[in-house]
Amino acid sequence: MKKYNFNAGPSILPREVIEQTAAACLDFENSGLSLMTISHRAKNFQPVVDEAEVLFKELLDIPEGYKVLFLGGGASLEFCMIPYNYLEKKAAYLNTGVWATKAMKEAKLFGEVVEVASSADKNFTYIPKNFEIPTDADYLHITSNNTIYGTELRKDIDSPVPLIADMSSDIFSRPIDVSKYALIYGGAQKNLAMAGVTFVIVKEDTLGKVSRQIPTMLDYRTHVKKGSMFNTPPVVPIYSALLNLRYIKAQGGVKAMEKLAEERAKIVYGEIDRNKLFVGTAEEDSRSLMNITFVLKPEYQDLQDEFMAFATSKGMVGVKGHRDVGGFRASCYNAMSIEGCEALVACMKEFESNH
Ligand code: PMP
Repeated sequence: MKKYNFNAGPSILPREVIEQTAAACLDFENSGLSLMTISHRAKNFQPVVDEAEVLFKELLDIPEGYKVLFLGGGASLEFCMIPYNYLEKKAAYLNTGVWATKAMKEAKLFGEVVEVASSADKNFTYIPKNFEIPTDADYLHITSNNTIYGTELRKDIDSPVPLIADMSSDIFSRPIDVSKYALIYGGAQKNLAMAGVTFVIVKEDTLGKVSRQIPTMLDYRTHVKKGSMFNTPPVVPIYSALLNLRYIKAQGGVKAMEKLAEERAKIVYGEIDRNKLFVGTAEEDSRSLMNITFVLKPEYQDLQDEFMAFATSKGMVGVKGHRDVGGFRASCYNAMSIEGCEALVACMKEFESNH
């Protein structure tokens, strides 16, 4: 039976990216050696990092003055590296869920944290609007897509202070105006690559403004200076990222990814809104195109396990909602096909007609 991978992360990747990564793990570019066993300083690996950076810059139209880094540690390590490198006195955070809260927790170790707004009052089902950003903050931190709650801030906001964004789960799903950001970061394991590498897009002249000493590995300047090669980077995940970047480019770039994301969302949200059994959890103007969250209506709550079992029997994988929201979540990252969304819709329709 065909499986449809709606996992929230690590998650679906294009088949060709998986096949080519697997092939390189057996024999990297006809070298007779596995990609797993070569030096990161090998002559044939440097071009991988170089091309990955070039494609990042090309696909996201990154202006001069920015550097792209490939690091270890996950987005979670960035939660601490950001205040280490940017927080002198006070930082502003927009609280849109668990990941934003975790980022705030780390920042509190370094200075004052101002929560500019929070959607905790409604279990993070919306993105707050019209919040005030303190002009004396060292930076404003936002989470553009909230993987757990299915909410997304799909426009690049204007900030009077340096803007820093966690784009773990929506990078490369739409064009972004990178010039509005001091730093953008994320774990790779949703729209970029297999798990194991963290991307950071950083405006170089925003670094070096804090007075504290920064441990070498946690100082962005170390990695900028050494081109992500200060220590051994995650070699295989970086290669899989390169393959996926080539794939995105061949598909028509982030504009094409955005169009696909809109088409997928129309299909799945359309069904959620039509189906008598289900209701979406996120407020309509905050709906994520990447993580589509929905629950059974109160009168059908007892069908929870039955729907999970039914969806599984139809090949749907990973549609169980996060425990903080309950219900269901269909993560529709770049590699999810229209056919996959149509299969999910058919499954929801059939389940409805059985009840
Ligand atoms: N931020 C967001 C928005 C996420 O979805 C996740 C992981 N799901 C993280 C941060 C944490 O990422 P990592 O596991 O790479 O540390």
